[in-house]
Amino acid sequence: MTHAPLHPFNGVTGESQPLPLEIMSTTTISPATHLESVAHGSKRSTLKGLRDAAAAMGLDCCVERQAKGYRVSQRGVWVEAHTLAGVAELLLQLSIKPWAPAPARSLAPLSADMGRSLGLDGGRLPAAPAPAPAPGPELPRFVTRSQQQQQQQQPPAAAPAPGAVAPGPLARKVAPSHLPADAARLLERFELNLGSVMTTGLANTKISKGRAIAHSAIFHGLPAKQLSAAIYGPTAGNVPARGRLETVRRLALDNGLGAAAQRLDACPWASDGCRDGCLVFSGRNAMGTAPAACKARRSLARLWCPQTFTVALLWAIAREYAKAQRMGLPLSLRLKGTDDLPHHLQRFHLSAAEAATLAHRYGLPAIPGHGTTLPEVLQVVMADQSLRWYEYSKAPASGHQGLEQMRALGIDATASLAADRLGGARAACEAVRAGFRLALPVAMTKGAPIPTEFRLAPTLGLPGLPGTSDFGRVPADDRPVRLLCVDGDLTDLRWMDPQGPQVGGFDGVAVILRTKASRGRSKASDAFSLAPTMGQWQALKGGGFAQLIP
Ligand code: SF4
Repeated sequence: MTHAPLHPFNGVTGESQPLPLEIMSTTTISPATHLESVAHGSKRSTLKGLRDAAAAMGLDCCVERQAKGYRVSQRGVWVEAHTLAGVAELLLQLSIKPWAPAPARSLAPLSADMGRSLGLDGGRLPAAPAPAPAPGPELPRFVTRSQQQQQQQQPPAAAPAPGAVAPGPLARKVAPSHLPADAARLLERFELNLGSVMTTGLANTKISKGRAIAHSAIFHGLPAKQLSAAIYGPTAGNVPARGRLETVRRLALDNGLGAAAQRLDACPWASDGCRDGCLVFSGRNAMGTAPAACKARRSLARLWCPQTFTVALLWAIAREYAKAQRMGLPLSLRLKGTDDLPHHLQRFHLSAAEAATLAHRYGLPAIPGHGTTLPEVLQVVMADQSLRWYEYSKAPASGHQGLEQMRALGIDATASLAADRLGGARAACEAVRAGFRLALPVAMTKGAPIPTEFRLAPTLGLPGLPGTSDFGRVPADDRPVRLLCVDGDLTDLRWMDPQGPQVGGFDGVAVILRTKASRGRSKASDAFSLAPTMGQWQALKGGGFAQLIP
């Protein structure tokens, strides 16, 4: 028997034809016939079987299990069914005619009834009074007595940078966030709140290791093409977090984000091995589907409106900045936690009133601007190092979105070796020569000692023939590099590590990262990490050679 693959349906282009469906591995029937048989009670099916049939027929809908029965939803309209036969019947109805969103109900008749019962002329209620104007930032800020005393004892503060709003004393932890209304609506639309925009403090094992030095906050979205998999992928598998996530599918389809999610590649420079063994499926991230679904909701919110999402991100950063200030620590910030998107280049609008709110509510001296970016808004706190922004990236050293562009914006960038990407070693050598440290995944066991030195060569061949003038003259691009090794698993605070040429003739620094087990990975991921073999040159899949020296 041959296994006909069940392709996820492209619900947007409508290119796919209903595919034959294998039910119970015995017969191959069309998905519509399967649904009819289940609806008439002549066949039994599982929930997964019905979902697969719906996907094969191209129905943009979600089928979810509930406490009692099931719910089939499409574009914000949902109908409940008690049995799977009922679900099959609903899916058949959907295949004939999609459900239209429910029209908004007019409140005019109700208003007229109320008006008549109050004896008003013509039964009309008087118009609601206009809402009182929101208090502007010019209103005097409430300052507690102890804060007043503190201010009297303190020497006068230095003049703020041009455009920056001087920060006020930190507000109470429970004070309202004052998140702008459009950003709040965006988060609500994708079932997020300000506290779930970023991963902070002890919630992440790696960043919690540096908690005595800095308070950390990381933004995690879904990597590579994983958002598309969460919407259109298969439902089951050994690692459910890698497959279709019903709540994510519902949110994406209800908001018309299917096609945009299919186009999105959040890691444009990732290699096959990197995508396959991505750390987003390591540790507690792959336990259940909740962490992946939360990352997916963040990615969807960003996709829906990147400008507004960046405002929400700024508020989340401000919130963590205030926490760090209360702890007496710098805020360590990383936005490319599990993607390689240009968060630092996203333009948005921050009004003077909003900047004043950030200063008064969170003590963050933000610089307002129209079409501004996060590094521009945060330049005061980045300059005084109360905020340390760092990133890992597989982007090339130069060019748009490159490492040098990040460095010019004040971000501490660490290049990341993609050993199995064509030209990955050459790009890494270029980044080292440009002064960036290099993150190096090595398949070492936990606790194994790291090498002291790392050598990387784009090629081991010498140009020219012996006896010719070219012999032995290695072009600058082909020169190998020697790197001093540091342990990257002690903390994630890369901005504390050295970079650039080091004493002893080293061209730079290699950050050794022991490869984390990624659940559901295949053999393809092996080529991404270096073998822990010491003293020998090893050939890299994408070209070039590497050597670890004990
Ligand atoms: S390891 Fe990093 S670059 Fe690779 S797929 Fe995962 S998040 Fe993207």
